[in-house]
This record gives sequence, structure tokens and C-alpha cells, in this order.
Amino acid sequence: MQHVDIAIVGGGIVGLTLAAALKNSELSIAVIDKAACYQPLSEKPTARVSAINQANIKALQQFDVWNYLQQDRANPYTDMHVWDKDSFGDIHFSCGEMGSDALGIIVENQALVNALAEAGEAQSNVQLVTAGIERVLAGPNQTMLMLDNDEVLSCRLLIGADGANSFVRKQAGLPITFKDYEHTAIVANIKTDEPHNNVARQAFTPTGPLALLPMVAPNVCSIVWSQTPEQAASLMALDDEAFCNALTAASNSKLGMTALETKRSAFPLTMRYARQWAKDGVVLIGDAAHTIHPLAGQGANLGMQDALVLAETLSSLNASGKDIGLYKNLRSYERSRKTEAMKMIAAMDGFKFLFDGNDPFKKLLRGIGLSATDRLGTIKNAFVSHAMGL
Ligand SMILES: Cc1cc2nc3c(=O)[nH]c(=O)nc-3n(C[C@H](O)[C@H](O)[C@H](O)COP(=O)(O)OP(=O)(O)OC[C@H]3O[C@@H](n4cnc5c(N)ncnc54)[C@H](O)[C@@H]3O)c2cc1C
Repeated sequence: MQHVDIAIVGGGIVGLTLAAALKNSELSIAVIDKAACYQPLSEKPTARVSAINQANIKALQQFDVWNYLQQDRANPYTDMHVWDKDSFGDIHFSCGEMGSDALGIIVENQALVNALAEAGEAQSNVQLVTAGIERVLAGPNQTMLMLDNDEVLSCRLLIGADGANSFVRKQAGLPITFKDYEHTAIVANIKTDEPHNNVARQAFTPTGPLALLPMVAPNVCSIVWSQTPEQAASLMALDDEAFCNALTAASNSKLGMTALETKRSAFPLTMRYARQWAKDGVVLIGDAAHTIHPLAGQGANLGMQDALVLAETLSSLNASGKDIGLYKNLRSYERSRKTEAMKMIAAMDGFKFLFDGNDPFKKLLRGIGLSATDRLGTIKNAFVSHAMGL
């Protein structure tokens, strides 16, 4: 049986960010994932991408992950253009307004996971383990993990970074609240007639938002088109040409005609948050603790911030000789990150409520709101700063 200080279950963006952020700690870490974290990238970019903000880019640079990132799969975006299809509401953000050269990057999730996994491989206090977990046996001072490769691992602290349907969360009996957003997200990569010019675009339509995220190729965008389940099912049933015509119309032809570069996939969207994020010997981060609507592209960003705050908490507990497994020592992490997640969930609910449907009062409100924000420097800068995670 092998012993580590910390076992992170889940080698996605968030679990691996935590391992990277513990680089300079004395803690020994195992990252366990049922699939190998590093997966060779397909020749053509895939459609599962994330907009990663500047705060998290800085962290990736600080922990030497950035150098491993395949730069031809990550595109800096400089501007954001958001408009309401049903009103005069329109707003532009530019990185120049913040004295920065990009608002963030659009990166394929697997490219980021690969960079984090390579950095983890090179990190002396980290081991990456490919195995599923069969049983979790929680004791007073340590937890034992029975792996499906017949190995047993014991740890002082078990971290659930295993995504929305977290096995660790269920095993630990940490309760969650969830709500169906009544939206399904259609994702795909598309080719457009006009170049995107590194602008991330988002159109709010009465049946849900459409995001066009600029990829490295100047005429390729990744789309996240959130629609009511009925509308999404109709769009998924269309042939490629009819789907692209609907997409071109929904995007007000901002980038001209569109054609599919990848297959379409559809994901039902659910809001979840764990009512308790930690207990003795266990703590949750990332999607295991919260999932939010992708309309503001903040799920992974929020999770990466969980990882950074938890890493700081654990490093300082360990440096001062305190027990990293005690719930009372993990409470500050739980409190601060729960508050941030709740704020984000409330903001997503607010946006969804305001932009849903055809109510004339809401149309007027969002028209005035977006246009006024576009003109008010201070509020606008606050928005940009928030989007950059600063
Ligand atoms: C359509 C869509 C678009 C999005 N766009 C953005 C965006 O632009 N920006 C943004 O910040 N966020 C975005 N998000 C959210 C973002 O994708 C997630 O928040 C993020 O990927 C969560 O990362 P994670 O590491 O917590 O979980 P996951 O990525 O789910 O990783 C969990 C890992 O745990 C492993 N695992 C699971 N169960 C077990 C087990 N029992 N044993 C071992 N391993 C296990 C899995 O194999 C996986 O590797 C989007 C989400 C959706 C649905």
C-alpha cells in the first residue's frame, strides 16, 4: 500500500491545476483518473473548448504549465461583442481598455489538460495514476482508496475533482442542490465566410444565448448555442445545411455564411452546488462542487480559482504543522469559494432571467442596460475586469 498526503480524484483542468499549484509545497500528491490525462490531440481542433481568463493564465505561467501548452491550439481573444437580438442592446469590450493585450484565451480543453498533465509528470511531488476507484474507506486519520488495478492508496486528504457527477461527493455523503436550467447547449466548430478577428461574440436570443468563440484559424469559431430543450432538439434534427442557415440567422450573419467543421453535440445544462464542500478528510473543487450555465464561460475559471485558493490553504496549513485533513482547518476555503460560486450562480440566473423570452419590459430594460453600460466607462471597466478574472 502506498501513502500520499493528498489524493486528487479527477485529472481534468481543475484537479491538475491543484496539483500544479502545490508544486512548491512539501506535500506528496497522487492524481487519479480513470482515463489517461494526456491524450494526443486530433489533427483538427475539437469543439470542447473553454475561455480561460487572464487571472488563470497568470497562474498557469507561474506554475510553469504555460510552456507545455501547445500554442497553436490556444487563441488569445482581444475583444468581446455582446448583443441582444431582440432589442437595441449592444456592447463591445476590448482588452485595450484595460491596457492588456488579450482578454483571455480560447483553448481546447484537452490541450489545456495535456499541458497540465505534462507539467504534473515533471513535478517531483506528483504522480499521475490511471485507475478507477472501487471503494473508499474513510478512517479517522486517513482514507484508503481501493483502485481497480488492485492497488490500494492511502491519503490524509481526499480531493473530489471528479466533475459534475462526482463519485467522491457521493461517497462522502456531501449533499447537493440542483436545478435544471431548461437549456441544452449545442457545441460544434464552424467555419465562417468572414474572419473573426479574435473577437468573442455572444448573441442573446429569446430562446437562449449563442456564443461564437474565436479559434486559432482566422475563420473558425467554436459555438455554444444554448436553447430550450425543444428548440435544441429541432436544431439537432436539422441536416447540416439547414442547421448552418439557422445559425447564420441567429448570429445576425455577423461573420457571413457558416459551415460545420465538426459534428454537433448537445449537453443538457444543470446548475448544481454542493451544500457542504468539505468534511474531515475530504474536500471538493471544480464541477464536483458546482456547475453553472456556460453563458459567461466561467465554469472552468471558477474551478481553477477553487484550486488556487485550496492550494494556498493547504500549503500554509502544512507549513505551520497543522492537520490538512481537519474540517475546521478547511472551513476558510469552503466559506470563501462557496461565496464566489453562489455569486456566479446568482449572476447566471439573473442573466438568464433578463434575456429569456419576449417580455417587452425586459427587452427595454436589456436594451437600455447594455447600451448604457457600453457608454459608462467605470461600469464597463468593472465588467471587463471581472471577465478577465482580475
Ligand atoms: C458547453 C459548455 C461550454 C463551457 N465553456 C466554458 C468556458 O468557456 N469557460 C469556462 O471556464 N468553463 C466552461 N465550461 C465549464 C467547464 O467545461 C467545466 O467547468 C470544467 O471543465 C470542469 O472541470 P473539472 O476538472 O472540475 O471537471 P471535469 O472536466 O469533468 O473533469 C473530471 C475528471 O474526473 C475524472 N473522473 C470522473 N469520475 C472519476 C472516478 N470515479 N474515478 C477517477 N476519475 C474520475 C474524469 O475522467 C475527468 O477527467 C463549459 C461547460 C459546457 C457544458
